[in-house]
Amino acid sequence: MKIYIIADMEGIAGVVSKDQTEGSSSHLEVARLQYTREVKAVCEAAIEEGVEEIYINDFHGNGLNLIPEKLPEEAMVIRGGFRPSSGFDLLDKTFSGLVMLGVHARTATGRGVIPHTYSQKISFEMFGQPVGEFDLLSLIAGECKVPTLLVSGDSIAIEQARTNLPSTHMVITKFPVGTESALCIHPNRVLTQLKDEMRRAVKNIQSIEPPQIAPPLQLLIKLHDVTLAHRLEWIPGIKKVDDTTFEYLGKSMKEIANVVYGTTTLAECKF
Ligand SMILES: [Zn+2]
Repeated sequence: MKIYIIADMEGIAGVVSKDQTEGSSSHLEVARLQYTREVKAVCEAAIEEGVEEIYINDFHGNGLNLIPEKLPEEAMVIRGGFRPSSGFDLLDKTFSGLVMLGVHARTATGRGVIPHTYSQKISFEMFGQPVGEFDLLSLIAGECKVPTLLVSGDSIAIEQARTNLPSTHMVITKFPVGTESALCIHPNRVLTQLKDEMRRAVKNIQSIEPPQIAPPLQLLIKLHDVTLAHRLEWIPGIKKVDDTTFEYLGKSMKEIANVVYGTTTLAECKF
């Protein structure tokens, strides 16, 4: 059995501030240790349950956050930046399950630690429902018939993820107080919960359905900064609905994800 882990940092135990997720402060170094410990705990539980091969996507920032020598030897890490896709490189139907660790709430969520969907300047909807990174990535896996086994993150992100992933195992790492503060569960307790839930999820794998939706896939792109509108007008195939809303109709989730990644990257570019 082979599984794919997408590991982000904002939803890791004890992480509440951008000081812990970017730059070069000692806070980032401490956060990287817990990030690696949480990924390791899930790998160990998976191996105990018979998983032989694990791909880990170091999904946060520059993709150089995990400390590979601290991980089990069965694990291989997708590291570094400038990748062809965001979060799902090399994910295909040969995997038996997806795990998403350290997830955060969607853009413009009033609570939730560091809420964003690749950027804090754009939010997205599909079929009238808000979608964040975990929704898009679980749908991409679903398109490959890969079920989402386990998700971890703050309580608001988990509440959002549950809506579209009712049978997925979930672990809450903290309870947000504000967008850069939270009541945090002890890091060691989070490790124990991750191991327990991962073991249960692998045992339960047959009863976890991959989420699926049928094309045409409607993506609504909602700008939180009107000055970005002209940038989206550069892209053929993206239709303007009003000053801050654009629409894209896609044939597959990978195509939708590329539009999300492309538009958010463009939104963050400084000209
Ligand atoms: Zn991140």
